[in-house]
Amino acid sequence: MLIPLPALNDNYIWLYAKQNDRVLIIDPSESQPVIDYLNRNHLLPQAILLTHGHADHIGGVAALKQHYPNLAVYGSPEVAELATVLVEPGKVQIGNYTIEVIATPGHTAQHISFVLDDHLFCGDTLFSGGCGRVFTGDYAAMFAALQRLKALPDSTIVCAAHEYTLSNLRFALTAVADQSAVTQQLQRVEQLRAANQPSLPTTLGLERQINPFLQVDTLDVFIRLRQAKDRF
Ligand SMILES: [Zn+2]
Repeated sequence: MLIPLPALNDNYIWLYAKQNDRVLIIDPSESQPVIDYLNRNHLLPQAILLTHGHADHIGGVAALKQHYPNLAVYGSPEVAELATVLVEPGKVQIGNYTIEVIATPGHTAQHISFVLDDHLFCGDTLFSGGCGRVFTGDYAAMFAALQRLKALPDSTIVCAAHEYTLSNLRFALTAVADQSAVTQQLQRVEQLRAANQPSLPTTLGLERQINPFLQVDTLDVFIRLRQAKDRF
C-alpha cells in the first residue's frame, strides 16, 4: 500500500505498508488526515519517519503520538525533540521493514531520505521535475545528495513531499536539452492536476528524462540551475 495523503497547501503525507502489516507514516504535516485514513481502513501505524525538521513535515507528530501512545518516531538529530529513535545513514529495521537511510543534506543540514522495497521517500530533496531549495547555502552538499539518489535504480518509486511538479516542469522546459519528454509529462500532469489527482509518485527512470537537476554533471552548473529556479 502506498498512499499520498494531500495535506496543507501542497504537501503529501506518505503512507506505506506491506500487505496486512502496520503502516509507516512519512512526514506527517498534519495528524487528522492520517488518523482518519487509518481508522477508515482499520489500519494501525508502525512508526513515523521524518526526513527533516520543517514545520510542514513534522506538524502532526505530537498529535499522532498522543493518539497512538508509544508510536516510534525515526529521524535525524535535526528532529531530536520529536524523535524517539535517532538514525544515521545505513540500514535500520523497523518491524518487518528493512530501511536504508541516506544522508541528503542541502535543503536542511541534516535532511535524510529513506529507501525501502524500491520506494524512495526523499522529503524536500528531490521533486518530480525539480529539487528542493538549498536553504543551507551548501550547494555542494545538495549536489552530492542528488548524486546519491541518482545512483538508485530506474525502477525506484520516488515519493516526494510536495506537489510542485507543474511549476518544476515549466522551468525544466527552459533547462533540458531534449524537451520532448518534459512536454509529454507536462501534458500528463496537467490532466492529472485538472482532475485533482497527485502527479506523484514518479520513478527515477522518468526523472532522469525530465528532471534537469538529475542531468547536471558539475557543481557549477547545478548552482547556476538552482539559482535560476529560485528566480523563476
Ligand atoms: Zn522543507
